[in-house]
Amino acid sequence: MADLELKGLRKSFGGLEVIKGVDLTVRDREFVVFVGPSGCGKSTLLRMIAGLEPISSGNLLIDGQRENDSEPMDRGLAMVFQSYALYPHMTVEENMGFALRVAKLPKEDRARMVREAAEVLELGHLLSRRPRELSGGQRQRVAIGRAIVRNPKIFLFDEPLSNLDAALRVNMRLELMRLHQRLQATMIYVTHDQTEAMTMADKIVVLRDGRIEQVGAPMDLYNRPANMFVAGFIGAPK
Ligand code: ADP
Ligand code: MG
Repeated sequence: MADLELKGLRKSFGGLEVIKGVDLTVRDREFVVFVGPSGCGKSTLLRMIAGLEPISSGNLLIDGQRENDSEPMDRGLAMVFQSYALYPHMTVEENMGFALRVAKLPKEDRARMVREAAEVLELGHLLSRRPRELSGGQRQRVAIGRAIVRNPKIFLFDEPLSNLDAALRVNMRLELMRLHQRLQATMIYVTHDQTEAMTMADKIVVLRDGRIEQVGAPMDLYNRPANMFVAGFIGAPK
């Protein structure tokens, strides 16, 4: 179970408000995509959910529990970034097991959990390699694997595919959708790519300047955009 509720969430940096009252419910196992132009607040909102950015006001609830001030490690989330930030001196296996080592899990359990995640992502044969010996797509899979080993209730993705070339992006998109089916986890996925949003989402959240413009299933937004901004962004014929 992992329902997520955002209630009147706001965030200011210094005197400047960048998240201006966001209300949103994400249901257990939903694949929700945040879209919107650069600078509209997608990453900030995701980081607030992850606990990496303090919430200025409003409430964040996970499974009904207020989590505004809890530690990131205690929220049952895992985040995958655009720049995957793998440790260059560690092998794939060590990179994937690192969070488990920090959590002081026994070595045998760590090895098993890493093996299982590696199998899901078809990385089993690459466990002893280092990041520089991997392709961009393989590195991104390791970053996703690092999230999977922690067995989170909620995955947060911040433009995870934007550094990959177009063909690989299509493959990874399908892979992530299969992963969502297989893990039955709640996923929140940030992108500025309309095609990713249309093909992956159960529900799209369109953001503009720190506010939600519209929330709905991809075809609802496509067929019934609330305004020109949403129409322009979701790619309905002009
Ligand atoms: P997006 O991910 O949609 O491109 P961001 O969430 O990164 O947008 O940024 C939203 C706004 O908040 C931008 O105007 C950005 O400059 C500002 N911002 C983000 N992080 C900080 C920060 N640490 N300090 C000050 N302003 C920030
Ligand atoms: Mg961003």
